[in-house]
Amino acid sequence: MMEQTIVYQVGYLSGFYEGILRFQSLAYLLAAVLFVLALAGLSKQKTARRGNILGVIGMACALVATIVVTVFWTEQAAATTVGLMVGAIAIGAAIGVWRAVKVKMTGMPELVAMLHSFVGAAAVLVGFNSFLAEPGAPGAENAFHMGEVGLAVFIGAVTLTGSVVAYLKLAAKISGRPLMLPGRNAINAVMVLACLILIGCLVTSRGVEGGLVPLIILTVISLVLGVHLVLAIGGGDMPVVVSMLNSYSGWAAAMAGFTLGNDLLIITGALVGSSGAYLSYIMCQGMNRSFISVILGGFGAEAPKAASGSGEAAVMGDYTEVTPEDVAEALKNSKRVIITPGYGMAVAQAQFPVAELTRRLQDAGVDVAFAVHPVAGRMPGHMNVLLAEAKVPYDSVLDMDDVNDDFADVDTVLVIGANDTVNPSAETEPDSPIAGMPVLRVWDANHVIVFKRSMGNAGYAGVQNPLFFNENTDMLLGDAKQSVDAIVAAL
Ligand code: NDP
Repeated sequence: MMEQTIVYQVGYLSGFYEGILRFQSLAYLLAAVLFVLALAGLSKQKTARRGNILGVIGMACALVATIVVTVFWTEQAAATTVGLMVGAIAIGAAIGVWRAVKVKMTGMPELVAMLHSFVGAAAVLVGFNSFLAEPGAPGAENAFHMGEVGLAVFIGAVTLTGSVVAYLKLAAKISGRPLMLPGRNAINAVMVLACLILIGCLVTSRGVEGGLVPLIILTVISLVLGVHLVLAIGGGDMPVVVSMLNSYSGWAAAMAGFTLGNDLLIITGALVGSSGAYLSYIMCQGMNRSFISVILGGFGAEAPKAASGSGEAAVMGDYTEVTPEDVAEALKNSKRVIITPGYGMAVAQAQFPVAELTRRLQDAGVDVAFAVHPVAGRMPGHMNVLLAEAKVPYDSVLDMDDVNDDFADVDTVLVIGANDTVNPSAETEPDSPIAGMPVLRVWDANHVIVFKRSMGNAGYAGVQNPLFFNENTDMLLGDAKQSVDAIVAAL
């Protein structure tokens, strides 16, 4: 009778745990599908909101499944596990909500760079935890496991320090100039080779004593490599670094997924890693940069002779200043107007009056469109987000390639807080830090009006813009929001 009860209970329990595992697999599969649909949705502005919602639902499924399974599988008291998880989630959520509420729209790129560093740090910690929990023992399976640990720590540590340096550059806490050490490519190559050898040592090591020293040296070299890779990339190429670190953080998460044996983390990491890599590739094309050169820390790039990193710019000649009333008059007399927004529109939060100005002009029969440069602002899609926030219709927002040959037919261009992205020296000065970057050819238009606060400030790349001194360019100096408000009032 007793045996029967035990057999019954064992059967019941194994059926129960099997059910839990099935629930986990199903929830993970559902989450993975939702993540793929989320990415598909995010690829177009019209479906981006839906994509975001699907991503949130997918993440909720993944979280619920992970929490339920962890509570049932735990070897310690369920209450302790729940307490630890709730504590960890509460601390993470409190920091996340605090930062998200506090951050200004202009600080988003720094925040994103900082968040990438957390993913890198998590991968390093997971790698160390996995190593200490299951240190090397003879056998192919363990060698594979140690390989996973080594790769997770390597990619995670590069992402961690690379993202911290990116944060410091974006927040202008350190110079944006590329650090061009002599023999920097050889230094990178030696560090990568050393990391691969150390991963090899880890794979063949036995026990904590055998593996800990190579693991620690691997971590230190990878941390230094991350710093050096990002320091070597110049201010103007930072957009690609941000998306590249996004990609690295995905691969770091995927590696952490391998060490934890978590399929969903592997899938999610691979999705983030590959979409980030593709975004970096598209941005390199937009900036006419070599993808390989940028991901290898500026491999083969020449040091720019001109300044890099925001700063003061020398006035290059005479310029004409106009008033908001003059601009309103010019707009009234225009048939076709193009607005090229840039980082200054984000700083001034001028997107709402700009949208209002657009509506007024369109109501008066003026053809108004926006021309958006791929790296305008401080993060990929920055201008699109601002314009969508101000409810500018998507079909009025054009990509650079769709509009760049049309400027000659435009009566008036309003350059609202853009500078590097409309700088003709990218085409004419080979020594410029932005040389070779495609720019919006606004100077071809009949009349250009530039909105900025002073003639003495340069754009992100730290160089003066000859456009401001052209005959057909007028300067409207002042905060962009106040200037646009005044134009709307004058209209
Ligand atoms: P820039 O950073 O080149 O120039 C910004 C302009 O806005 C300046 O002329 C500035 O002049 C003006 N400005 C700033 N605040 C105000 C304000 N309140 N009112 C009016 N004008 C203002 O902008 P772009 O968008 O043209 O170029 C983006 C640059 O950032 C590129 O070099 C790009 O490589 C880089 N970058 C882009 C990233 C991305 O992912 N998109 C990420 C990292 C870097 P003033 O100070 O006189 O007002």
